[in-house]
Amino acid sequence: MVEHCCRMMSFEIQETNAVPSADSDHLVRYDERQNSYALVIPNDPAGRAMPISYCPWCATKLRRVRARGLAVMTPDTCRAARKAVSMTQRQLAEAIGESLSTLFRYEMGKPTDQAVAEKLLRFFEECQIAVDRSGRIGRYQP
Ligand SMILES: [Zn+2]
Repeated sequence: MVEHCCRMMSFEIQETNAVPSADSDHLVRYDERQNSYALVIPNDPAGRAMPISYCPWCATKLRRVRARGLAVMTPDTCRAARKAVSMTQRQLAEAIGESLSTLFRYEMGKPTDQAVAEKLLRFFEECQIAVDRSGRIGRYQP
C-alpha cells in the first residue's frame, strides 16, 4: 500500500479507482508502476489524464511523497546517509529535532517512535540523499 501525501489524495485515488466511469467526480489517477499522479480529463473519449507534480489539496510536491512512500529507513541506511552528509550523531539529532540518545538508540536498532524514521527520511531528502525501497542510498539526479 503506497502512502499518499494527505487524506484527500488517498480518498480521491481510492474513489477514482472504484468508479472509473466518465460520471465519476473523482479525478485523480495514480499509477503505481510509474509512481505518477494524473488528473483524469472529464468526458474524454480516449480516457486521457494530465500528469500533475503537486497535490491539488495540500500542495505537496509529489516526487517527495513518492520517495517517502517507497523509501525504507533502517539503522544501516541512517548511518550510511549520515556519513554521506558528513554529520555526527549529535549534529544529525539536532537537525531533526530529536535528542542524541534517541538517534543513538535508532542507529543501534533499538525500538524508537516511527516519527524518527520519517524525520530522518525527510531530512536526508532535503540533503538530496535518495533512499530506495531496499534502504540503499544514492543522490538525486539534478
Ligand atoms: Zn495531498
